[in-house]
Amino acid sequence: MAELICFNADCRARYAITDVLYNCTKCGGLLEAVYGAIDACDLKRVFRERRMSNAPLDQSGVWRYRELFPFLGDYAQVTTLREGNTPLLDAPAAAEYGGLDRLTFKHQGFNPTGSFKDNGMTCGVAQARRLGMKRVACVSTGNTSASMAAYAAAAGIEALIFLPHGNISFGKLAQALEYGARTFEVEANFDQILALVRVLAERLGIYLLNSVNPFRIEGQKTIIFEMLDQRDWRAPDWIVLPGGNLGNTSAFGKALREAHALGLIDKMPRLAVIQAEGSAPFYDFMQRGGEFRAVEKPETLATAIRIGDPVSWPKALHEIRSSCGVVDKVSEQEIADAKAIIGRCGIGCEPASAATLAGLRKLTAQGVVARDADVVAVLTGNVLKDPDYIYRYHTGQLKAPDGARIESRFGNQSVVVPNDADAIARAL
Ligand SMILES: *Cc1c(COP(=O)(O)O)cnc(C)c1O
Ligand SMILES: [Zn+2]
Repeated sequence: MAELICFNADCRARYAITDVLYNCTKCGGLLEAVYGAIDACDLKRVFRERRMSNAPLDQSGVWRYRELFPFLGDYAQVTTLREGNTPLLDAPAAAEYGGLDRLTFKHQGFNPTGSFKDNGMTCGVAQARRLGMKRVACVSTGNTSASMAAYAAAAGIEALIFLPHGNISFGKLAQALEYGARTFEVEANFDQILALVRVLAERLGIYLLNSVNPFRIEGQKTIIFEMLDQRDWRAPDWIVLPGGNLGNTSAFGKALREAHALGLIDKMPRLAVIQAEGSAPFYDFMQRGGEFRAVEKPETLATAIRIGDPVSWPKALHEIRSSCGVVDKVSEQEIADAKAIIGRCGIGCEPASAATLAGLRKLTAQGVVARDADVVAVLTGNVLKDPDYIYRYHTGQLKAPDGARIESRFGNQSVVVPNDADAIARAL
């Protein structure tokens, strides 16, 4: 039987799985889905056989693993765009750059809307439909809104996106507009808008799909399950990922603990979470201890991890401890160069994703990650999410948020040539 339980160890209040809740009503803590006993005996075989099936649910790289997050009673309410199914890619040039003998990328940018948010969103939208919701909402300008808009549209429910008026970037919103989401610019800051949307959600029966939604976390666990399945359930030594709101860190840790407890893997990999220097509250907290302190004005060109007050930090802390994990941070220059290297492997990713390789380069230099370690780095978003960044980097025009020029150390500029075969032949 599935339930929601408060993550706060001093509270542990329990709620029905169908309660419309985003936080514990007793202590305000984060909520987590928990299940009764799961029989894992035949599951590896079942998961493998489903890859030959033409049933939509089996073709989804999320719902293929549905026994491992059984929060729905009825799968008729699932909307799938065949999310997940993302490849493991070997990248020798990136391995060398990262100080490793070998390196594998799990590329979540191959998802329907181009980021791992789809793994979680298919679950969040399924829960919305199960609760009978006609509308879903989030406060976001980035990949969350793109993903929510797509899944809501496919499910035939209305998507409402709220964002602060003024600093709207159409590049990031383009997908949401195309998928038909209704978008509202509010004359308020992020926190004020979130409070407003919560009031409206209560009053009008709108389901919130922000990052703390526990069902999104359940879906994101499948990034790990699928990766393990693709490796015949051989756990790697390290899993490296970027950290923003820390939802993915929470999901990965929960997936690993559960897979280990069920005997699907025989050891726990270590998590390495990488933040951008200008938005590194979790890194600071892990270094300093004491109270968790938000970063007032988070800055980084890796906008997907430009988060000053990551809501899921208590879960992430637990997962870093459970996995003997580490947290590090990298500069804008380091992210930009690592991203260009990933591009040169023929793989490519969005800036936030490249924090993984930049972080690995540091961690191997420090001896934290051994050169011969078995490492999977998760690339979270597609290369086409941020073409403006790419063009600027390769033409030497990329500037960090503080105005410092980022050197295009691995730049690749186009060359102007005359309409003349000889001249072009010489240029070649
Ligand atoms: C959302 C997102 C992140 C950050 O993930 P968190 O779960 O918030 O830590 C990183 N990269 C990309 C591409 C994202 O869309
Ligand atoms: Zn509580």
